[in-house]
Amino acid sequence: MSKFIVGLTGGIGSGKSVVSRLFEEKNIAVVDADVVAREVVQPGTHGLLEIIQHFGTSIVDDNGNLLRAQLREIIFSNADEKEWLEKLLHPIINTEIRKQLAAASSRYAILSSPLLLETQQHLLVNRILVIDASEELQIQRAMQRDSNHPELIKAIMNSQLSRQERCAQANDIIQNHGSLDELIEQVEKYHQLYLELTV
Ligand code: ADP
Repeated sequence: MSKFIVGLTGGIGSGKSVVSRLFEEKNIAVVDADVVAREVVQPGTHGLLEIIQHFGTSIVDDNGNLLRAQLREIIFSNADEKEWLEKLLHPIINTEIRKQLAAASSRYAILSSPLLLETQQHLLVNRILVIDASEELQIQRAMQRDSNHPELIKAIMNSQLSRQERCAQANDIIQNHGSLDELIEQVEKYHQLYLELTV
């Protein structure tokens, strides 16, 4: 079991997924809170049953899969619904994250989460690594990836911490304003540091 956990966070489009993959290429176990958040609402889960009871069957497609984009639209325009959903899912997500981290066996492990600092998830980590990118770059990259409306991306950004608030809580910061090669270099640097911290 990895005893040293690095929490990796950053705003939408900052580069968390890319950085997570780079750590995985170094055989470091990565638990991705976004992946866990999808797992806990798969058909047949307690989470999805509660969601259907609350929002009605129109929130799933004909195969019983959650219509995530539709749910996202609802909660970003309705604070009460957002709170209801978070109260339901955050404890379920946290339990599953703990389980997956406990199963990690690399020298250290990474918990990658957009809401690391906004939720209780930061209590699970020993160190905080923030990916920082300008808001313009975040919007541009997130739009290229998801083809979402800029308004929705901005709404998601507004629901997350500001860059300053996030960076103020960081032990380590990766600047993702440049090329992929520059990103790789910084990941290598922190990988070496974390290996040193875990001897
Ligand atoms: P997050 O997981 O933080 O939302 P991603 O890692 O998915 O962000 O990055 C958002 C998009 O931007 C992806 O399509 C990714 O490939 C791209 N991207 C991230 N960093 C860079 C970079 N340094 N150079 C070029 N493209 C990048």
